[in-house]
Amino acid sequence: MKIIMLGAPGAGKGTQAKMIAEKYGIPHVSTGDIFRANIKNGTELGMEAKKYMDQGLLVPDELTVKILLDRVAQEDCGKGYVLDGFPRTIPQAEVLEEALNKLGEKIDFAVNVDVPDENIVRRMSGRRACLKCGATYHVEHIPPKKEDVCDTCGSELVLRDDDKPETVSNRLKVYHEQTQPLIDFYTARGILKTVDGTLDMKDVFASITDILG
Ligand code: ADP
Ligand code: ADP
Ligand code: ZN
Repeated sequence: MKIIMLGAPGAGKGTQAKMIAEKYGIPHVSTGDIFRANIKNGTELGMEAKKYMDQGLLVPDELTVKILLDRVAQEDCGKGYVLDGFPRTIPQAEVLEEALNKLGEKIDFAVNVDVPDENIVRRMSGRRACLKCGATYHVEHIPPKKEDVCDTCGSELVLRDDDKPETVSNRLKVYHEQTQPLIDFYTARGILKTVDGTLDMKDVFASITDILG
């Protein structure tokens, strides 16, 4: 099964993608996580991506598409995957579609996690991330067992640089301009499924599993 997660920054795509990955036994592929791991390791790709991420802008399509296609060509993606944060532009969606067409494959579902802008800033300022294992928490809604410590790996949790309010409003603008058109793109292909992302994490997941089966 191949799934795409759509939604504004902070809508809960990553949170749901991790649960989907676990339930269906497929890898969770997050372009944001790949970029952050590269930044942490000081790679050339990381340096390049950081210039855009820090401003709340998208990393150029050319670079992003290459990273993603390399990742999904790996063996563990053979049974499918859940894409979180990709595609984010129409050109990215077109390249993905074309690459899959060539293999005689297709995306099964595009799950749109719907959360209004008003809720987003609060979600982001409370988000705490583990840069080591990619786990995500929320200070009020999904707190770690011990403050600022990752439940999974014991590393310190941080507020991402791009989750500061100044950057969040920029990211929302970028979302509306460049990513939201994907809702029409996947509606036209008959695979768009919208869920109410303002519900409790477990209830959002229940609506998703109803759709995926
Ligand atoms: P969120 O879902 O909270 O916005 P992500 O971790 O998905 O965060 O993305 C963080 C940043 O990484 C984005 O703001 C953007 O700069 C970059 N990025 C991630 N995925 C893509 C993509 N598919 N295309 C372009 N830039 C991306
Ligand atoms: P995205 O990947 O779309 O940027 P995340 O999954 O990282 O979003 O979630 C953004 C923030 O909101 C995180 O702090 C996360 O713990 C929290 N969160 C996720 N889902 C919910 C929910 N259903 N209700 C409340 N908070 C949530
Ligand atoms: Zn961790």
